[in-house]
Amino acid sequence: MIIHKSETLMHAPAFGWDHGKGDTYMDRKERIEVILDALQQNDLDELLVPPREFDMQPIRDVHSPDLVNFIRSSEELEPDQAVYPYVFPYRKDICSPRTNLHEAVYYCFDVGTVMHRGTFPAAKAAVDTALEGATRIREEKQGWAFALCRPPGHHSDRDFYGGLCFFNNAAIAARYLSAQGRTAILDLDFHHGNGTQGIFYYDPEVLYVSIHGDTRRHFPFMTGHPDEIGAGPGEGLTYNLPLPADVDFDRYRSYLDRAFKRIHAFSPQYLVVSMGFDAFYTEILGDAVFQTRDYTLLARELRALDYPLLICLEGGYDLDALGTNVVHFVSGVLE
Ligand SMILES: [Zn+2]
Repeated sequence: MIIHKSETLMHAPAFGWDHGKGDTYMDRKERIEVILDALQQNDLDELLVPPREFDMQPIRDVHSPDLVNFIRSSEELEPDQAVYPYVFPYRKDICSPRTNLHEAVYYCFDVGTVMHRGTFPAAKAAVDTALEGATRIREEKQGWAFALCRPPGHHSDRDFYGGLCFFNNAAIAARYLSAQGRTAILDLDFHHGNGTQGIFYYDPEVLYVSIHGDTRRHFPFMTGHPDEIGAGPGEGLTYNLPLPADVDFDRYRSYLDRAFKRIHAFSPQYLVVSMGFDAFYTEILGDAVFQTRDYTLLARELRALDYPLLICLEGGYDLDALGTNVVHFVSGVLE
């Protein structure tokens, strides 16, 4: 099943901020609209189900109370108001935020992630879609669920947000599932999921495996290296596989095989996939060169792993390609 909640479209900043100039916000609500259109045109919309409303506890199990309160406070913004971070945290113990929305950047790590009045309901709805999927594969032993999460989540850590992300949907779902059994996260967005890695870095119950553009060249730049392997009780449970430039799906397969091997060795009860569509050849935020048909092949391989599978939407910003690529991915899941 595919899980969707219309409130995910409420996050709609008027413009973004890119290298010193105003630009179209990357995570546009049209991303979800083109996916829904494409599903409908291919008679896949019968797979759509709405999530139930979950309480805030699963979010609090992953994120700090300060971050949750801060994101929630965006509801108090005026309709024409938005928060554009422009100051970064002063890294000293003596620094503590006297929180109001204009001091946003204490909790944010970039200038490109914009918060406005619709942000909290959308971020909460994104979490609800992920948790609905987690509940379905847990309680009803469904083989798979695909949560149309928006805004995405994998760049948000326990106590900060950024990279177009607010609440970490996949991490919240994984934490929720891990109460029932060992859970692995496979992050296939083109970018490293620094937030998910950070949340589970010391955690012995959740394995985090990521294949991503080399962060010496790509966002988020400061994490995602092979020598980051987890620490303390989580040592050995973080596995980073950076990609060479211009990788196609044939070459990507060898990275997938290594990721699958690591996941099998962990023998999880559940698998959560952070699924980005930004490795596509037209995507401007990455340099991989996936073709549309590759998403069917990729989905087939994920299903063949034979774990209960929760797929959470992360990136993918080319509105001319995203709907078609998601349809090809779903058709592979259904085979
Ligand atoms: Zn991405």
